[in-house]
Amino acid sequence: MSLAGKTAVVTGSNSGIGLGVARSLAEAGARVVLNSFTDRDEDHAIAAKMASETGAEVLYIQADMSKSDQCRALVEKAGACDILVNNAGIQHVAPIDGFPPEKWDAIIAINMSSAFHTTAAALPMMRKAGWGRVINIASAHGLTASPYKSAYVAAKHGVVGLTKVTALETAEEPITANAICPGYVLTPLVEAQIPDTMKEYNMSREEVVRDVLLTRQPSKEFATVEQMGGTAVFLCSAAADQITGTTISIDGGWTAL
Ligand code: NAD
Repeated sequence: MSLAGKTAVVTGSNSGIGLGVARSLAEAGARVVLNSFTDRDEDHAIAAKMASETGAEVLYIQADMSKSDQCRALVEKAGACDILVNNAGIQHVAPIDGFPPEKWDAIIAINMSSAFHTTAAALPMMRKAGWGRVINIASAHGLTASPYKSAYVAAKHGVVGLTKVTALETAEEPITANAICPGYVLTPLVEAQIPDTMKEYNMSREEVVRDVLLTRQPSKEFATVEQMGGTAVFLCSAAADQITGTTISIDGGWTAL
């Protein structure tokens, strides 16, 4: 399928899942807007590399997804937004009674509220274009819970709820809204949790991967960013025109347990 003529805005896309999803959309021919809160030469180089490797137009726009005005400005600066992928996310692990309030606020803002603000800015553009796709990267933690991830679990459940409301408000229009719920994917966000877990449980890296992370995934394998990207491209295809308001789990069976 071809996404030529469509513009995709992918929040938090200078690494991990966002970068992988952006790449799949660029390979399908979309004009792609990459984003993060930083504005380094490296960020623009990532966009230039993706453009040269895929032949798509790829640009990088700096915007902090913890700030409502910057969420809306990102979509407006993109000039068009046929496909919106809300992917920016951070994580913090601590018990509720030791969870820093500023971490709670940041996780709720970046992982959940940003999706509300970008969607609010994108829907009028999608309506004008007569077509639109909202793809929210939620999580298996949007459907299940783990201790010590209160803000993350709350934010991801919120993203699943927001996805359903977006789908209902656009149900009679050629716009769909769905959430992808990944299990564990070995990205910088997950890598960052490994050293602390090794220390806490006196485990090797291999033991943490096998006995802590992949123990949640019956497949015993990490999901990949390419699988997230392929699913996003599918959600943009005509085959997915009637798929709206749902969650697609890519978690090796985690949520079937
Ligand atoms: P990652 O750390 O590689 O990517 C996170 C992205 O968000 C980065 O591009 C980062 O620059 C960006 N970001 C962080 N703060 C931002 C801000 N204030 N403004 C704009 N961008 C910001 O991690 P990832 O694993 O690729 O995570 C991507 C999404 O996938 C997140 O929403 C995460 O919750 C979700 N997810 C990841 C996994 C997993 O196992 N990796 C599982 C389920 C869901």
